[in-house]
Amino acid sequence: MAVHGRFDLHTHSTASDGTEPPGTVVAQAARAGLAGIALTDHDSTAGWADAIAAARRGGIGLLPGVELSTRSGWRSVHMLGYLVDPADADLVAETDRIRTSRLRRAHRIVESISVDYAITWEDVVAQTAPGATVGRPHIADALVALGIEPDRSAAFAGVLHPRRGYVEPHHAPTPADGVALIRAAGGVPVLAHPGASRADWVIPEEEVEQLVDAGLFGIEVDHPENTSGGGRVAARLAARFALPITGSSDYHGSGKPNRLGDRTTAPEVVDAIIAQATGSQPVLP
Ligand code: AMP
Ligand code: FE
Ligand code: FE
Ligand code: ZN
Repeated sequence: MAVHGRFDLHTHSTASDGTEPPGTVVAQAARAGLAGIALTDHDSTAGWADAIAAARRGGIGLLPGVELSTRSGWRSVHMLGYLVDPADADLVAETDRIRTSRLRRAHRIVESISVDYAITWEDVVAQTAPGATVGRPHIADALVALGIEPDRSAAFAGVLHPRRGYVEPHHAPTPADGVALIRAAGGVPVLAHPGASRADWVIPEEEVEQLVDAGLFGIEVDHPENTSGGGRVAARLAARFALPITGSSDYHGSGKPNRLGDRTTAPEVVDAIIAQATGSQPVLP
């Protein structure tokens, strides 16, 4: 069955660091006139049930997915995984491990900030939906609620910037292990926003070659945060390895300026993802 129309293949909900519940994100997508979206919360599939129900109700397409946190040296690399089996034992174990490590890290970051600013762990809990994958965005929201920072983006450029010394990394598998994990769970891996680094760093070609060997499907070339230079390098990498390119907004509700449907993916690419996936079923209108 072929899809008709374009999909926004990267969105977040309150299951991670988006500001809207999964069903609301899906309903927004229907209103925005999209053929469908993928829900890709960080290291979690907890939003799937709500999103699937909303997609069926709204007659809109949905690719349930996940955005896996991986790391190459000290660089954070995000790997989108579409239509994985959410019960796959290895995927469940690894995402549990990442979320646990993220929670401990968030505790430590808050403790370290609290030496200089009046913030407590409870302030962060107040900004976090139950069960959500905790990240810097929740700490940012607490800083905003306390009047320490004016908004999320300012908090990322301010207190939460690595150069300020409060932030530290959390556990994450290597990008190649992330790709293999997603494939083994029947999913389809796409390298997320490779050109989004403010330092204009783009993952080197040799490393992309390893990812391709591990089963990488495509590259998210069209992303609002890819810098112009970064986006060009990403497009060249996709061409070099003959990988399909995707486009997405990386919508976070009011948590980021990105608008839903800002960037989209061609229906043929969505079809190819669905054709390769064995982990779970898409919702198609
Ligand atoms: P963490 O994974 O905890 O280090 O937090 C990084 C996440 O924060 C990214 O995946 C984005 O979703 C989000 N993020 C990064 N920069 C910003 C920003 N300037 N404004 C809002 N959210 C951001
Ligand atoms: Fe995020
Ligand atoms: Fe990301
Ligand atoms: Zn994202």
